[in-house]
Amino acid sequence: MSQKIAIVTGASRGIGRAIAKNLAKNDYIVIANYNKSEKEALELKNEFNNIHIFKADVSKREEVKQLVEYTLNKYKKIDILVNNAGIDSQQLFQDITDEDWQNVINTNLYSAFCVTQEVLPNMLHNKNGCIINISSIWGLVGSSCESIYSISKAGIDAMTKSLAKELGPSNIRVNSIAPGFIDTDMNKKYSIDDINNIKHDIPLQKIGKPEDIAKCVKWLVEDEFTTGQVIAIDGGWQIH
Ligand code: NAD
Repeated sequence: MSQKIAIVTGASRGIGRAIAKNLAKNDYIVIANYNKSEKEALELKNEFNNIHIFKADVSKREEVKQLVEYTLNKYKKIDILVNNAGIDSQQLFQDITDEDWQNVINTNLYSAFCVTQEVLPNMLHNKNGCIINISSIWGLVGSSCESIYSISKAGIDAMTKSLAKELGPSNIRVNSIAPGFIDTDMNKKYSIDDINNIKHDIPLQKIGKPEDIAKCVKWLVEDEFTTGQVIAIDGGWQIH
């Protein structure tokens, strides 16, 4: 089959949804994973013939296996994996509980490790693949009161670089996209004043849209010579 098959995790809303939609508009077949937002996932499926939805908590190995099995039973191959599912977490370092730690690390880092491990046998067999990990600029520069989140994203970027070296000879490219401040539900907690202050610190003086990240995903999917990179899409925030 010449059409390319993509799995996008956490695709029912926000950045994952924009990635799934942009790939579907460009004729990719998308398996859009969701965990809780069933209504939004069904809307996505109804909008596109080439989007399938699959419920799985990607921090659980058994559910990840089912997601990959579903995709392979249907299409026999996986060309693209976008590890997008994630949660944030804010607290002082000394207030972090073991439960906070496990929750964020499992959802943000273990999930990317686990889904990647489960899709790899097929990509290795086909000597073809593109893996994109959605990290964060906080993985690059650290964030006060968001240390577990920053640690999880720095871990993802280290995985990206290690795997790019390990999998390059098998024609599998691995890259991270590190978004800055993107207008999604994850940032609903910020007031208009907070957002205006943030815009002031961003060289381009604006916050990003999920579509800004989706465009970069499509570019990376179609490129053939980029691997091991962490691409910040942040209006210049992390260099300010
Ligand atoms: P969001 O909260 O709107 O979306 C996150 C998605 O991940 C949701 O659909 C959620 O259901 C899903 N998810 C969470 N845990 C899951 C699990 N265990 N299994 C399956 N799905 C799960 O947030 P978003 O802004 O769209 O975030 C998407 C990614 O981008 C995240 O990894 C986030 O860390 C990263 N990011 C976001 C921003 C931002 O400013 N919004 C900045 C940097 C990085």
